[in-house]
Amino acid sequence: MYPHVIHIASEFAPLVKAGGLGDVIHGLSKEQQKMGMKVEVILPMYDSIDRSQVEKLHVRSEIVWSFEHNKEFHTTVWSGLIDGISIIFLEPHEEKKHFNQGRIYGCKNDIERFLYFSRAAVEYLHTSDIRPDVLHVHDWPTATAPLFLKELYKPHGYHIENITLTIHNVEHQGRCQPKHLTNIGIRGDDFRTEKLLQDPTHPTLINLLKAGILYSDNVVTVSPTYAKEIMTKEYGFGMESVLAKHKHKLYGILNGIELNYWNPEKDKFLFANYTPNPTYYRQVRHGKQLNLEGVSKQLGFTKRGPLFCTISRITEQKGPKLILHAIEQVLKHGGSFIFLGSSHDPKLEREFLELKNRYRNNPHIYIMLEFNEALSHQIFASADCILIPSIYEPCGLTQMIGMRYGTIPIARKTGGLSDSINDINDASVPLHERTGFLFNNTTTQELDSAIDRLFDTYADPNQWSQLIKNVLTKNFSWHHSAKKYKTLYEKVTAK
Ligand code: ADP
Repeated sequence: MYPHVIHIASEFAPLVKAGGLGDVIHGLSKEQQKMGMKVEVILPMYDSIDRSQVEKLHVRSEIVWSFEHNKEFHTTVWSGLIDGISIIFLEPHEEKKHFNQGRIYGCKNDIERFLYFSRAAVEYLHTSDIRPDVLHVHDWPTATAPLFLKELYKPHGYHIENITLTIHNVEHQGRCQPKHLTNIGIRGDDFRTEKLLQDPTHPTLINLLKAGILYSDNVVTVSPTYAKEIMTKEYGFGMESVLAKHKHKLYGILNGIELNYWNPEKDKFLFANYTPNPTYYRQVRHGKQLNLEGVSKQLGFTKRGPLFCTISRITEQKGPKLILHAIEQVLKHGGSFIFLGSSHDPKLEREFLELKNRYRNNPHIYIMLEFNEALSHQIFASADCILIPSIYEPCGLTQMIGMRYGTIPIARKTGGLSDSINDINDASVPLHERTGFLFNNTTTQELDSAIDRLFDTYADPNQWSQLIKNVLTKNFSWHHSAKKYKTLYEKVTAK
C-alpha cells in the first residue's frame, strides 16, 4: 500500500524550527515520499516564515472558514513546495493574529493558537473534501485534530479512518481550561471526565495531548526506550496511567536524520566539505580541521585538547546544571568547549551568561545564546565530541547528527540516547559498534567519570581514531523508521 499521508504539524525544518520536531517532520515526510507515498504537511503560516524559501507559493483557496468564540473567520490556504514536499500553509484572519507573534511557541495564548490551527486544518480538509488514507499529528499542538474529526465532522459524514499521533515529548501536554475547548466548538465541561479529556493530575483541567492518545489509532513515541520510560511515574509527567491503559496501541520508533540535509559532503554551511565515510578517514580529519579553523576565526576561539560542544535548547530537560558543570570540568582538564543554546527561560539563560562572563577572557570556551542554524552545522563539523547530559531524552538528534559529522557523543543513558549510542566499554556489543560515552545517573560524579574516560581515550590516538571510524559507519537514515511507520499505518487499514 502506498497511501496518501497528511501530517498536521507546528514545525517543518529548516523553514520553521524550534528543535527536533521540525527535523522529524521534514525527514519523515521526505522518506515517505521516496517510498512512493503521497505526502502533504499542513503548517500555520507564521509571520517568521521566509516566504522566498517556499517554491511555487500560491494561494490555493480562500473559501475556508475557521471558528473561535462563536465567530467565523476567514482563512487563506497557501500551497508550496519545500525540498520537494508539498506544504499547505493556513493563514487565519482572526482578530488576535495568532501566528503573527514572531515566534513558534512561548506566547501567552499558545493553547488558543494551536487549538485554532488544529480546527482550521480539519475544516480545510473537510471543505476541500480531501480524504487522505492516513492523518498523522504531532505532540499537543495538533493532537486535537483527531478529536475535532471524530466529534464534529464524522457526524456529518467526513472522516479519516487511520490516525497516528507521534509524541515527541510527553512533558508538554497542553493543559487548559474547559472553556478553551468550548471556545473552539466543543463543550469543554462535557469532556472533562476521567474517561475523556480530564487531565490526570489536575482534575479541573482538560489535557489536549490526552485527546490525541484517546482519538488516534496508533500512538508512537520517538524511541523504544522512551516508549517504556513514559509509562513510569518518573518519566510520564502524569500521563503514565493514561498511556498504560492504551499500551496496546503504543509503539516506540527511533527517529532518523535526513542524511541529505545533514551531510558533511554537501553541507552548504561548512567551511570545507568532507565525505563521512571511514574509508576516507584522513579526509574526514582534514575536513574537520578546516572547519575548526573557520569556526575559530569566526568566533575568536582557540581549541585546546579535545573540543567539546553542546547544541541545544536550554531547558531543565537538557540538564543545564550538568552542562555548566561539564564546561568547567573540561576546562580544568585542559580541554575546550563551544556551547550553542537557545532559551525561553530567563533564569537558566542568566546562569549561562554568568559563566560566559566569568570566562570572557578565556579563548578556549565560547558560549553563544541564540538559535543559529549555520553555526550549528559548523560546530558539528569542528568538534571532537558532543555532550548531551539530558535528564530525559525522547530521542535526541544531536548525537546522531554529531556521529554523521565524525563527532563522538558523550551522553546520559536515557531514551533515544540509550537506543542510539553504545558505550566504548559495553562488552555486550562488538568493538566496532561502540560509539561513545554513556553515564547512568544525573550526578556530577557520573558525568565526571564519563568525561575522564573521554579524556583518556582522546589521549590514545589509535583508540580515538577507531572511535571516529565507528561513528562514521552508523547509518541513522529515516529509511528504517519510515518503514516501521508504514507497517503501523497498514495494521490499522487491515483492521
Ligand atoms: P529537542 O527536539 O528536544 O530540541 P533534539 O536533539 O531532538 O532536541 O533536536 C534539536 C535540533 O535542534 C537539532 O537539529 C539541533 O541541531 C537543533 N538546535 C538546538 N538548539 C539549537 C541552536 N541554539 N541553534 C541551532 N540549532 C539548534
